[in-house]
Amino acid sequence: MTLDTIAAISTAVGEGGIAVIRVSGPDAITESAKLFRSKSNIVDAPSHTVHYGHIVNPDDGEIVEEILLTIMRGPRSFTAEDVVELSTHGGVIAVKRVLALLLRQGSIRIAEPGEFTKRAFLNGRIDLTQAEAVIDLIRSKSDRAFTVAMKQAEGALSRKVKTLRHQLVELLAHIEVNIDYPEHDVTELTNQFILEKSRQACAEIDRLLKTAEEGKILREGIVTAIVGRPNVGKSSLLNALVQENKAIVTDIPGTTRDVIEEYITLGGIPLRLLDTAGIRETTDVVERIGVERSRTALEQADLILFVLNGNEPLHEDDRKLMEQLKGRPVIVLLNKSDLPSKLDTAELADFYTEESIVRMSVLNETGLDRLERVIRDMFFGGELESADLTYVSNVRHITLLHDARRSLTDAMEAIDNGIPIDIVQIDVRTAWEQLGEMIGDSVAESLIDQIFSQFCLGK
Ligand code: GDP
Ligand code: ZN
Repeated sequence: MTLDTIAAISTAVGEGGIAVIRVSGPDAITESAKLFRSKSNIVDAPSHTVHYGHIVNPDDGEIVEEILLTIMRGPRSFTAEDVVELSTHGGVIAVKRVLALLLRQGSIRIAEPGEFTKRAFLNGRIDLTQAEAVIDLIRSKSDRAFTVAMKQAEGALSRKVKTLRHQLVELLAHIEVNIDYPEHDVTELTNQFILEKSRQACAEIDRLLKTAEEGKILREGIVTAIVGRPNVGKSSLLNALVQENKAIVTDIPGTTRDVIEEYITLGGIPLRLLDTAGIRETTDVVERIGVERSRTALEQADLILFVLNGNEPLHEDDRKLMEQLKGRPVIVLLNKSDLPSKLDTAELADFYTEESIVRMSVLNETGLDRLERVIRDMFFGGELESADLTYVSNVRHITLLHDARRSLTDAMEAIDNGIPIDIVQIDVRTAWEQLGEMIGDSVAESLIDQIFSQFCLGK
């Protein structure tokens, strides 16, 4: 398959920083050379070399931009094609002018979103899990999620899936032998073998699926609701947390909620904070709508920060809230600890352990570090620091893992019911195919397009 030559700005274009234009395809080097004035002759230059020079406008010989040009010859490049990267240090306008000159050449066209990664996949450079991990990288909203996506990009999940498939192929081979030589004693042994191998495979799939929930949490942030009566300090807390820990978020889908929403990272853990603007009984209709929304936010929450004013005795509304929050993951924040304590904590003991109660003063900024520790302990118990970061963080992967698991269960049930082995074989093969879809071994063209269209431009 011969593809044409594509180009795009592949770094976020910001003020002053370096911007990189990436060109990939058969004409990448020769076409760039036509615009590049330098001591080096890049057409003959070896792979993985960097050249200093200028981009000139071929019409009038005018220098457009001073650049560093990097050559990576296929297949030793990201796309496995000839790749040229032009690093400019000028602003937006200079970069666009260089790109425009490249595109004017005629044989280079602008890349579609995700097209570089799509080529890497089509050229066998990366598999689908890795490609999807690149999507996650682009979108990841925190350092931790970034690490997870990185690990996945390195192929941890692919390796696991490949091992699983390899085991299933062995199994299929076994069954094949049995179909060819169907003596009874062999059948009995084969059945035992299939049952055992299927059970093992299911256990491994379960393990992968278990990480899926964590993966989801990491990518989107732990949904954290801040609740409590009016004036206990919810908004102050939200502001304090956001000021210190605001996450760099680029593309959160439009939020038209009444609930204030902020993304932060606390000790490497991404949180999606929701200030629920005072949950309480009310007769006011307009206010009730707001309260309704707060309740929904509360139901969605993975974690609830229940703020109390330690300077006041426990209020009837506090007790109602405590009842309402029963069984949920709650951290109690006894706020305003800079003022005299008037709240009898014995009343809290029926509901909360000492570990889940944090005394704090948002005003004096005390207790926030303890809150961070409690959150960490609650969600990860240190497990996240373990070396094995095979997170399944993608809906398509989760679905396929479930499908493959079902196929294997079908195979095991078939054996238990004395179904002929060639029927059992179909189930095992289906499981093998479903796992194959995860790493792009048997995907339809349309699926590939669908996946790659999710990319940002230039990746
Ligand atoms: P919300 O209604 O729960 O969002 O409460 P606010 O964040 O609006 O705070 C209500 C009042 O309590 C404001 O006047 C805050 O300045 C004050 N406040 C918040 N945190 C503290 C604290 O730790 N100590 C003291 N003394 N006052 C606080
Ligand atoms: Zn408030």
